[in-house]
Amino acid sequence: PTEAAGTQPSPAASSSADTPVIEFVDVEKRFGDNVVLKDLNFQVARGERVTLIGPSGSGKTTILRLVMTLEELSGGYIYIDGQPLTHEQRGGKRVPVSKKQQKALRTRIGMVFQQFNLFPNMTVLENITEAPIHVLGQTKAQAVQKAHSLLEQVGLPDKADAHPTSLSGGQQQRVAIARALAMDPEILLLDEVTSALDPEVVGDVLNILREVADTTNVTMLIVTHEMGFARDVSHKVMMFDGGRVVEEGHPEQIFTNPSHERTKKFLGAVL
Ligand code: ADP
Repeated sequence: PTEAAGTQPSPAASSSADTPVIEFVDVEKRFGDNVVLKDLNFQVARGERVTLIGPSGSGKTTILRLVMTLEELSGGYIYIDGQPLTHEQRGGKRVPVSKKQQKALRTRIGMVFQQFNLFPNMTVLENITEAPIHVLGQTKAQAVQKAHSLLEQVGLPDKADAHPTSLSGGQQQRVAIARALAMDPEILLLDEVTSALDPEVVGDVLNILREVADTTNVTMLIVTHEMGFARDVSHKVMMFDGGRVVEEGHPEQIFTNPSHERTKKFLGAVL
């Protein structure tokens, strides 16, 4: 028999252990006439931690915001566990996925922002339990119990009833990490999470994230200027310039022996 049916690749929609958790296919992002990302293709495997580095304006934050569906995709496809996040190909056409599907995929993704983005009118406890209760449908008791244990984990066991505005930046960011983890995300997006912090608290926040990396299998996509942290926690580093991947590799290789002039120049400026 000449049929090679058994060797056909499985359809993208069927998620298995080797389906990428995140996949970008020919992704394009424009803001007006400004083409920020063009023909971007990459995959992130389950449990993989990938750091995006590169000069300011190279499109790193935009990539995270696209995964979080905070920006609209201009072209191409993003798949989460093999399922289309915003658009799919149907009958040769690019058609939007249902709001329901998008929402379901989004609940698997958590994001921590540079500016914390806590809800200012809610207590710390309410910030952490809001989505588990209203999105995941957890009981209040369940969500509260988990929130207390997360507050313990991030070193703020006595701040449950505090309001975000009464906390320091470092404390607010620890709450934001607890809030993201409360959803048990499969994917954690970290967008320059220490850039707005006083230097003396940066280490504490990074240590919490190191512990999350060490003790969970959460897939991470990280944008950071903390090269030591990137080197410690990432499995892979991708160097961007002008919305394209200039070079990617193991952190050890990228940081000690980059191949491209552009990467050497960038690291020379930041290290
Ligand atoms: P990076 O994270 O690498 O610094 P960004 O993804 O923040 O880069 O930005 C990439 C480009 O997209 C920049 O030219 C920036 O000006 C532009 N950009 C980002 N967000 C917006 C927006 N909301 N409106 C218009 N342009 C934007």
